[in-house]
Amino acid sequence: MSTTDRSSSWRRRAEERLSDAGYRRGGARTVLLDLLDEQRCARTVLEMEDDLRASDRAVGRASIYRVLDELEQLHLVQRIEVGQGIARYERIAPDHHHHHLVCQRCGAVVPFTDEGLEQAIHRLSDGAGFEVTGHDVVLHGACAACREAAATGA
Ligand SMILES: [Zn+2]
Ligand SMILES: [Zn+2]
Repeated sequence: MSTTDRSSSWRRRAEERLSDAGYRRGGARTVLLDLLDEQRCARTVLEMEDDLRASDRAVGRASIYRVLDELEQLHLVQRIEVGQGIARYERIAPDHHHHHLVCQRCGAVVPFTDEGLEQAIHRLSDGAGFEVTGHDVVLHGACAACREAAATGA
């Protein structure tokens, strides 16, 4: 079976790094790579488990954690802490670059991009004589729905 042309650059890089690190292809690893590649933003392990079950690709929770851990160590996946011990995961890819607003009350995550922010980060890293190979920005607070609920005492 050949790799389809549709596979993303992230997907190809992930397979390369996994194989360089001595991991075998197939099974839960392949399923998780597919899923992460489809995701538009960070999701929790429970959400991923549900997605996989709903699309007939069920993978046990322990395997999901194990594979995410491998991918995180290989810098292929980013983990975002959203409070209450819950984490969300998404792929790290140049074509998927964005940052996150995280609601500390309900755990909602809203992706955002901002050209001015990117420029400021480059200016800052240049000024510090740093070669920055990656960055992620997480803004913590309360989302609109939670602020509204707090305001009305709901
Ligand atoms: Zn995201
Ligand atoms: Zn909220």
